[in-house]
Amino acid sequence: MSLETGRRPAEQVEGDLAERLRPLTKQDAFAEASRCLYCFDAPCMVACPTSIDIPGFIKLIQTDDRLGSAQRILEENVLGASCARVCAVEELCEEACVLAPGEGPIMIGRLQRHATDEVYGDADGFARAGIVAGVATGRSVAVVGGGPAGLAAAAELRVAGHDVTIFDRQPTLGGLTMYGIIPLREPSEVALWEADQVLALGAVARTGVEIGRDVTADDLRRDFDAVFLANGSGQRVSSIGLAGDDAPGVEDALEFIERIRVERPSNVPVGRDVVIVGAGNTAMDAATIAARLGADTVTCVYRRTQLEMTGYPNEYEHCLGDGVRFRWLTQPLRVLTGEDGHVSGLECAVVRLGAPGPDGRPVPEVSDELVTIACDHVLLATGQRREPQLFEHFGLETEWDRPKMTGAFHTTDPAIFAGGDAVLSGKELSVVDAVAQGRDAARAIGAYLEDHPRG
Ligand SMILES: Cc1cc2nc3c(=O)[nH]c(=O)nc-3n(C[C@H](O)[C@H](O)[C@H](O)COP(=O)(O)OP(=O)(O)OC[C@H]3O[C@@H](n4cnc5c(N)ncnc54)[C@H](O)[C@@H]3O)c2cc1C
Ligand code: SF4
Repeated sequence: MSLETGRRPAEQVEGDLAERLRPLTKQDAFAEASRCLYCFDAPCMVACPTSIDIPGFIKLIQTDDRLGSAQRILEENVLGASCARVCAVEELCEEACVLAPGEGPIMIGRLQRHATDEVYGDADGFARAGIVAGVATGRSVAVVGGGPAGLAAAAELRVAGHDVTIFDRQPTLGGLTMYGIIPLREPSEVALWEADQVLALGAVARTGVEIGRDVTADDLRRDFDAVFLANGSGQRVSSIGLAGDDAPGVEDALEFIERIRVERPSNVPVGRDVVIVGAGNTAMDAATIAARLGADTVTCVYRRTQLEMTGYPNEYEHCLGDGVRFRWLTQPLRVLTGEDGHVSGLECAVVRLGAPGPDGRPVPEVSDELVTIACDHVLLATGQRREPQLFEHFGLETEWDRPKMTGAFHTTDPAIFAGGDAVLSGKELSVVDAVAQGRDAARAIGAYLEDHPRG
């Protein structure tokens, strides 16, 4: 038994993986904008990690100044087009909307998309929105990682007039917006356009270059005045020590999702009966993809319950809509294989929840009761595996596999800064938090450069 491609016609698969939310029409956007109360001290702005002037950009939509509206968004958040699509608005800006409890919140994310669509796709989109490079300072910064944090930092540094080189080991900039987020939520064209706009500001990209392997920390210290580490929280999942997880048919869910991005989706092999280990957002995304590629059954197994799952509730609802099943209180123990060595099932133990642990969540207690789930494809979605070796390569002190921070964005070396997923955890592992970190880290780097004139 092995995984198969082409379970469903290619055109159907591509149609089912196309962006889920359609743009608002001009009339709908106007009507939605007209609902806004333009609150003083707007709580939605406080809830947005990038503090976009939300009432301001909505007002500009209402006055038919879509370009002005895009400008208002991009001046705080250069990845406003991505964030409009991928932000968990129901937990951020829209959750804070004063209209939320009654008639439903303003659709801030969709209005943001309406505004940024005004410049999206244009070769001079940022320039039209007034995002331009500043007068050259002659100072230079290396940015390690071209994901949201690195791109936001690079844009802010260019606006301040500093030279910027972005290093990324992947062939294309964008980080997880390019390789992790599923096309249903954000087509790769959006991530590519934003990266191109940062390059149009004059940032230089060196892709396919891994810092610590192809270029060393000493090279960067010699060639640049400061370094920003925005290397993310890892692009592979952590091992949970599942026995037999090296059997053919067991796969890293992040690799599975990445293949959807870089190959024709219908060429990506999938099993008939797929089991996903985990119930976070990566698990939900992998489950959605597996179902839409044509798996007969898709089951997420999770050792806690729906109450403790880390996946967003709306993504859970989407999964249910795709026929994905969830087995709560189930702890995978061992991958079972058939005579051909391929995965044939997953042996699991039934779990009971104990007293809350240090993180406040009940501790799963594994019982003697075993269940076997027959399957031919197991996707591990057990959290990203951090890569502290980069920080160690720079000689930085680390804590919990992250750089030890001595102040906002400051590592234990005054010329080396860090931000984005590289330093964040939990619910802050998001595009909008990474953008806020990149932008604010760039400002901290600017202040450092001013305080340390070249000798
Ligand atoms: C499956 C999945 C789905 C997600 N969905 C959402 C979502 O819907 N909404 C949302 O807000 N967030 C989502 N996220 C989280 C979001 O993608 C991240 O929080 C965000 O991309 C973090 O940005 P970053 O720039 O800090 O890191 P990354 O985006 O991880 O970028 C880091 C970059 O650094 C590069 N790099 C690493 N090490 C080196 C090195 N040594 N040398 C050179 N380059 C290096 C990597 O190649 C990568 O391009 C999702 C994450 C995953 C995994
Ligand atoms: S960036 Fe995200 S959180 Fe902020 S206003 Fe836009 S959609 Fe809401």
